[in-house]
Amino acid sequence: MKLANLDGRAVVVTPEGVIDLNTASGGRFSASPDAAVTRIAEIRQWLTAGRPQADPRTTLATLESDPSRLGPPVTDPRQIFAIGLNYADHSSETNTPVPDAPLVFSKWPSSLAGPAAEIPLPTETVDWELELVVVIGEGGRDIPAERAFDHIAGFCVGQDISERTKQLAGTPPQFGLAKSHRNFSPIGPWLTTLDELENPTDLALSATYDGDTVQKARTSDLIFDIPTLISYLSSVCELRPADVIFTGTPSGVGLARKPPRFMAPGGVLRSSIEGLGTLTNTCTAP
Ligand code: ZN
Repeated sequence: MKLANLDGRAVVVTPEGVIDLNTASGGRFSASPDAAVTRIAEIRQWLTAGRPQADPRTTLATLESDPSRLGPPVTDPRQIFAIGLNYADHSSETNTPVPDAPLVFSKWPSSLAGPAAEIPLPTETVDWELELVVVIGEGGRDIPAERAFDHIAGFCVGQDISERTKQLAGTPPQFGLAKSHRNFSPIGPWLTTLDELENPTDLALSATYDGDTVQKARTSDLIFDIPTLISYLSSVCELRPADVIFTGTPSGVGLARKPPRFMAPGGVLRSSIEGLGTLTNTCTAP
């Protein structure tokens, strides 16, 4: 199942058309995308039992070719966790040792944006970080790794856009603020539930900037895998429904290039993950 935020309303996206959860269910489900991700099992059951009519004017194919009406699959999570240095090749390109435990920071929810959002660049040192994003469906504390997948609503593609000057200004550096400018957390294009993925732990991911492939990896290369992250995070913080986890970026960030390569107004960043879809974000002047 693909759950999207279409013009601010929760819809299921199918090849035949979108299904507006609130109107098609006669009000049983809320129109809020954030509420929908907490009721995945019920929605699936309702889809199977009720066979609601899809609106053929807007289909999976039309949204793939024009995603401009899509917002982020969740709009106001209470927590956004992000993981640093979670691919060995990214640790080595930044000359940093592989961490012994997950390196956790936060991005603030006001930075969330949709899959086609423009990214205003506050400086000349803004960089890409393609990441697999996990959205929590069922919260909890002390979630054991072997039960972690039961707590996931689904996956989407994400970009942890990073303003490197502010990020690296202090000693020690602090990450959250420089990664939380307006539209610095585009996610989408929709939330894909895990039953749609043949192997949810091994997905190809790649990003291009102005047509050049800049990042290319597989999620099976994560140092701390998703069950480990959910178990670790929930041993400290209570995870809440609709919370978001950016799981870390592979090598190929602009900062690590010689010379460094950053984004400029007019530049186009395309970010894809196998089975999850593509984000297309154009950079603009501030
Ligand atoms: Zn990141």
